Amino acid sequence: MYEKVKNILTAASQSNTAVIAFNCTDYIMARSVVYAAEAVHTPVILMLYPEHAAVYHTTGFGNFAAMVKELAEEVQTPIGLHADHDYSYESVMRSIQAGFGSVMIDGSMHDLDTNISLTRKVIQNAHARDICVEGEIGHVGMAADADHAKTDLFTKPEAAEKFCRETGVDSLAISIGNAHGEYKDTPHLDIRRLEDIHAAVDVPLVLHGGSGIPDEQLLVAFSKGIRKFNLGTEFLSNYYKAVAEFSAKNADNPDPVKILQMPEYVQAKLQPYVEGRLRTLCRF
Ligand SMILES: [Zn+2]
Repeated sequence: MYEKVKNILTAASQSNTAVIAFNCTDYIMARSVVYAAEAVHTPVILMLYPEHAAVYHTTGFGNFAAMVKELAEEVQTPIGLHADHDYSYESVMRSIQAGFGSVMIDGSMHDLDTNISLTRKVIQNAHARDICVEGEIGHVGMAADADHAKTDLFTKPEAAEKFCRETGVDSLAISIGNAHGEYKDTPHLDIRRLEDIHAAVDVPLVLHGGSGIPDEQLLVAFSKGIRKFNLGTEFLSNYYKAVAEFSAKNADNPDPVKILQMPEYVQAKLQPYVEGRLRTLCRF
């Protein structure tokens, strides 16, 4: 069933764990996540990274929101919908108008005061419409640039406290040794810093750049205030592998409509992966 992200975060918090938010590009990925969640009775969040719609045209904004809500009603397990990184007031409004009940404004590339004023402006509008807003403080950079080792990008607890107090943000993405994309070396989360941030603020904390962080570190982080965990790169990589495998298996198949068998073939590969992540990391 379709559920507000805010309620899913509260449930994760009560179980002292995190919900996994999967970046999905289309119906095959979305359906794989929804049915995996149902199979293991664990709530999930489906996210659209706006660039995937705006630049790569994997889906449309309104289509994606409607699709997730429709899929959610096919199952009993709570399913949330969230728009990942928007970087401007205008693009957040586009996500809200498309039907997303939970959005992210990422002002982390700006200085603290600019980030606060941008986030506050988004929240004033979003909260009036009962929309939940995730902000970011410190900067979660790119693994390819080894940003996860640049401690000057890490979130400072006192800045996080000021940011939450002055914006009224609903959840907060933090930088504690995580980065987007594929890590070249094993990342090491700064758990001490996470504890300090968790003590300084009372909103759910969000960990981006989840692909490649060892499970034992993730489980510690989830027990110390991480309530939402974003997974994209690893999931997309598995999607590509499944499509390539389907193509290879059907190279000599003369059926002109063989593509119709692709979605179910791919879902049969992706769903067990998602179920495995949920079972290992966050049953609640
Ligand atoms: Zn991110």
